[in-house]
Amino acid sequence: MRYVDEFRDAGLVKGVLDEIRHIVTRPWVLMEICGGQTHSIMQSGLDQLLPREIELVHGPGCPVCVTSLELIDKALAIASQPGVIFCSFGDMLRVPGSQQDLYSIRARGGQVKVVYSPLDAVRIAQENPDKQVVFFAIGFETTAPPNVTSVIQAKALGLKNYSVLVSHVCVPPAMHAILGSPQNRVQGFLAAGHVCAVMGYWEYLPIAGKYHVPITVTGFEPLDLAQGILMTVRQLEAGIYEVQNAYTRAVSQEGNRTAQAMIFKVLQPVDRNWRGIGLIPMSGWGLRPEYADFDAEKRFDVSAIQTRENEICIAGQILQGLKKPVQCPAFGTLCTPQTPLGAPMVSSEGACNAYFRFGNLELSKKNETR
Ligand code: SF4
Repeated sequence: MRYVDEFRDAGLVKGVLDEIRHIVTRPWVLMEICGGQTHSIMQSGLDQLLPREIELVHGPGCPVCVTSLELIDKALAIASQPGVIFCSFGDMLRVPGSQQDLYSIRARGGQVKVVYSPLDAVRIAQENPDKQVVFFAIGFETTAPPNVTSVIQAKALGLKNYSVLVSHVCVPPAMHAILGSPQNRVQGFLAAGHVCAVMGYWEYLPIAGKYHVPITVTGFEPLDLAQGILMTVRQLEAGIYEVQNAYTRAVSQEGNRTAQAMIFKVLQPVDRNWRGIGLIPMSGWGLRPEYADFDAEKRFDVSAIQTRENEICIAGQILQGLKKPVQCPAFGTLCTPQTPLGAPMVSSEGACNAYFRFGNLELSKKNETR
C-alpha cells in the first residue's frame, strides 16, 4: 500500500478485526505505549470494535504527561525570571505545575514563546543576544534528535545565551517498571512505531524474553493498530513471546544509527522521575558533561523547588494501565480540557483528553464495571 488513506480503509480494518475475533479464545490485556496511538484508537472507535476479550490499557507514552512536576515547576521558575525568553512546544503551556502554568506566566508579561522546532529557539537566541533563551527539551527518543541538534548548533555558533531544560525519558525502562510491578496487568505491548523508527527494536528483545510478553512494533493508523493487535493476540494464543514488526514501512531492528549516534554524542542515561509514577532508574537522558554549559538547571538557580501534586488526579495509575480515565472521580466534571487538574487532560497525546474528545463514555463506564 502506498497512501495513508489505505491504512484508514474501514473494509480492510474490518477484515483484520474479524481475524482477531476468529482466533481469540480468552481475555488478554494489551497496552499501547504511545499517547498518539491512544488517540488514534479512540478517534477511530477501535476500542469498541474489538472483541470483548481484548482490553486495551494506555501506557506512559505521552511525553507531556510524564514530565515530572519538579521539572515543570523549574520551567515555571525560569520562565518567570526577567531577561528570559522561555521556548516550548505548545502542549506544555497549559500543563498545571504546583501552583500555575506557563500560560499564566505569559499572561503576567513573561516571555513564553511557542516554537515548532528547537532550531526556532536557537534562532531566537541569535536574534536576542541580550536575553537568555531556554528551550524545554521534553519527550521520548523521538524528539531527542532535533533537541540535541539545537545544542550542537548553538555550540557551533558559539551562543552563550542558549540553554535547554532537559526532561528526556526512554521507553524500555518504563516497560521494565510496568512489567516488574506486582500490580501489573499487561500481557502484551504495542510498541510505538515512531520511537522504534529512531531506536529500532533491538532493546525490546530481552524484555520480551525476560517477562514472557509479546511486543509488536505498531504504527498509528487504524489498520496499523488493528494489525499490531492481531499479531500480538496471535502470539499470546500460541504461547509465543517475541518482538515482531507490524510497521516495516518505517522501522528496522537497528533503527536510525545516525540519529542514535547524534543523541549519544550529547546525552547520557540518567535516573528520571516520571510524573505520577516516580523514579525509574536510568530511564531518561541528560546532557553529557561536555555540554554542561547548555544545561538550564546549572545556569539558573532552581534547586530548591517544592512541589505539590493535585491529590485527586490518578494519572499515575492510568499511565501504568491500572485504571482508565473514566474511573477518575474528577473526569469530565472537575477536570476537563478547559479546567485540567492533570497533564493527561491537557496533552494532545493524553489518555484523559482522548476519552474526553472521542470516547463513548457510557460504554466505557459500563465496560469498567463488567
Ligand atoms: S481526569 Fe484529570 S484529574 Fe483525573 S486522572 Fe485525568 S488528568 Fe488527572
